Amino acid sequence: MTPTRVLVLNSGSSSVKYQLIDMADRSRLAVGLAERIGEETSALHHEPLAGGGGKRERHGRLADHDAALEAIAEELAADGMGLDSPELAVIGHRVVHGGLKLTVPTLVDDAMLKEIERLIPVAPLHNPANVTGIRTAQRLRPDLPQVAVFDTAFHSAMPEHAARYAIDVETADAHRVRRYGFHGTSHAYVSRKAAELLGKDPSEVNLIVLHLGNGASASAVRGGRCEDTSMGLTPLEGLVMGTRSGDIDPAVVFHLGRVAGMSMDEVDELLNKRSGLLGLCGDNDMRQIRRRMAEGDAAARLAFDIYIHRLKKYIGAYYAVLGTVDAVVFTAGVGENSAPVREAAVAGLEELGLAVDGELNAAGGKEARLISPSYARVKVAVVPTDEELEIAEQSYALVASR
Ligand code: ADP
Repeated sequence: MTPTRVLVLNSGSSSVKYQLIDMADRSRLAVGLAERIGEETSALHHEPLAGGGGKRERHGRLADHDAALEAIAEELAADGMGLDSPELAVIGHRVVHGGLKLTVPTLVDDAMLKEIERLIPVAPLHNPANVTGIRTAQRLRPDLPQVAVFDTAFHSAMPEHAARYAIDVETADAHRVRRYGFHGTSHAYVSRKAAELLGKDPSEVNLIVLHLGNGASASAVRGGRCEDTSMGLTPLEGLVMGTRSGDIDPAVVFHLGRVAGMSMDEVDELLNKRSGLLGLCGDNDMRQIRRRMAEGDAAARLAFDIYIHRLKKYIGAYYAVLGTVDAVVFTAGVGENSAPVREAAVAGLEELGLAVDGELNAAGGKEARLISPSYARVKVAVVPTDEELEIAEQSYALVASR
């Protein structure tokens, strides 16, 4: 029997998300989340999707990622799908930062783990957790192939003129300062699915992909390759996000240091955790912001307007970068679910060939779909992202090709 199952692990600083996917039919066998790792209030939410059984919860301290992964392995084993199962082909890990060297899905070995660790200074929040997740999985199943799939990989094709910041080259190179981009697994998956929706090969279409979740990023994709993306050295740059500012004048940082006496760490925390929609109006959930707007809340209205204004600027910029655009594609929590955001982002862009059909836009659904009227020169699409499936596809393809 050829093993066909892939366990996808997404290890964050205090959480591990996982999905067990059977590549024979792309079905999900189990999904879950271990959260608040390291705290007294840790929880594990586990849901077997094959064979019924229903959701299960565990509460109580998970001391570290080791403990979390062991608990996950136990839950899977209780469903007869443990890590020792002969049907498990590979564990696929989401790794946030692969830098310039790790640009394709890669089998985990010591050299590669060292490289991920070397990148910790440019991804201090994410890469340490990713390394821990990999090491723990290796300990639990030393004989099983493990594959790392990098969030930065899709963007590594960006031309130098998009990737470089206009700063002193020696300083930039010495400290690896450049645009790397993130959410690449999502941008790659969504671009491919959007081309499918348009009935074309990815190499034939130019797309503006808007991944609007709690983190948000835009990318300009020409013929299946990333030409530019809005996140930069870190995920802070670009669009207005749930709690991140996105683009600001870098001199704001010096100003806050000199005038407000804030330390580097304080400014870092301000821009990453207390800015964006949350900083502007006290809420970072678009649903809540819309509710407040309906009640006439001025701060929520302004936050929404700033969010949309930034989105429009990127649509315009990437339109110019690409020259011709086949479709603007919305994805992730806000992009997939918020009709008002999609409508507002495209409003007034008819001269660019962009329009949204009110009814199509309002109709929900989990499928990829067009929401532009038939006459629109540039299509507007909603394409649900599926980063876990993409990680599973890439990890499985790599072990199957060995
Ligand atoms: P991430 O993976 O970055 O945490 P998601 O892609 O899951 O984020 O998106 C989460 C965000 O999606 C929420 O913060 C919320 O703003 C938004 N969201 C989810 N559902 C809806 C909805 N029905 N309408 C509007 N916004 C939504």
